Amino acid sequence: ESKRRGRGCVTLFNESMRQDRKQRRFIERELRAAILLDELDLHYQPLVDLHGTVMGVEALVRWRHPLRGTIMPGEFIPVAEQSLLIDRLGEWVLRRACRDAASLPGRFVSLNLSGAQLKRDAVVETVRHVLAETGCAPERFTFEITETVAVSATPAVLARIVALRALGLRIALDDFGTGHMGLSALRTLPVDGIKIDRSYIQAMGTDEVASILVSALGAIGRARGVPVVAEGIETDAHLAMAKVAGCSLFQGYRIGRPAPLRVPLARSA
Ligand code: C2E
Ligand code: MG
Ligand code: MG
Ligand code: MG
Repeated sequence: ESKRRGRGCVTLFNESMRQDRKQRRFIERELRAAILLDELDLHYQPLVDLHGTVMGVEALVRWRHPLRGTIMPGEFIPVAEQSLLIDRLGEWVLRRACRDAASLPGRFVSLNLSGAQLKRDAVVETVRHVLAETGCAPERFTFEITETVAVSATPAVLARIVALRALGLRIALDDFGTGHMGLSALRTLPVDGIKIDRSYIQAMGTDEVASILVSALGAIGRARGVPVVAEGIETDAHLAMAKVAGCSLFQGYRIGRPAPLRVPLARSA
C-alpha cells in the first residue's frame, strides 16, 4: 500500500492503530499540533476539459511530518473526523486554498468537505467568514461531498448544503457509484457536478455495464447542465473511453498527479 503511494510517503497509522483509543488520542494530539505549526500542505491535481485545458484543480491535503515524511490523508482524515479536529483542519484547508487561489487565475478550486463538518451548524458561518476575511470569490470554489454523505444527509445537513450554495459556492458529488444513491436522486439533488468514482472509469474496458453507467451519468449531467468528472484516468484508454461516454472533465495520474503549487499543473493530454 505505502509503495503505491510513491517515494517519500510512509504508512504511519494503520487501521488497527486508528481503532485503538489510545493511539487515536496520540494521532489527534500530533495532528492538532501540526495544524498550529503549519505542518500541513495542499497538493493540487488538475481537472482538464475535452481539449486538455486545465479548468480547475482539486486540493488534497498532506501532512509533512518532521520525522516521518509525508503522511497521506487516508491515514489521518478518518481520525480527525472522529473529533472536532476535522473542523480545524477543514478551516485550515479553506484558508490556505483561498490564499493559493490567487496563483490559479481563471481556474476553479475543489475542496473536499467531510460529512463530519456538515454535522456542525457552524460550518456555514466558518466558510462565510474565511471567504470574507481572505477576499475570495465563492464562485471559484467547489466543495466535494461524497455520495455516501449526500445519501445519508439529514434535513439539517441538506439545509447546510443549500446554505453553502446560497453563499455562491458549488457542490459536487464525489466518488459517485460507491454509495447507494438511486439515480432518481440526481433529478432533484442540489448539486453542481458529479465525479464518477475511479472504479467505474477503470472498469470500462472490461465491463460493458460500467461503460453504460458512465454514459448514463454523462447524459444526466448534460441534461442537468452540470459537469461530469471522470476520476482515476490512468491511461490513454481510460481517457478515450471517458470522452466517448460523455464525461466533460477528466482527472487522474495520466493527466497530472497531485503536486505542490510550484509544480506546473499538467502535461498536455
Ligand atoms: P478524493 O477526494 O476522492 O480524492 C482523489 C484521490 O484519488 C486522491 O487521493 C488522489 O491523489 C487520488 N488519485 C487521483 N488520480 C488518481 C489516479 O489516476 N489513480 C489513482 N489510483 N488515484 C488517483 P489522496 O490525495 O490520497 O486523498 C484521498 C482522500 O482523502 C480523498 O479522496 C478525500 O476523500 C480525502 N481528502 C483529501 N484531502 C482532503 C481534505 O482537505 N479534507 C477532507 N475532508 N478530505 C480530504
Ligand atoms: Mg475529492
Ligand atoms: Mg474522488
Ligand atoms: Mg475518494
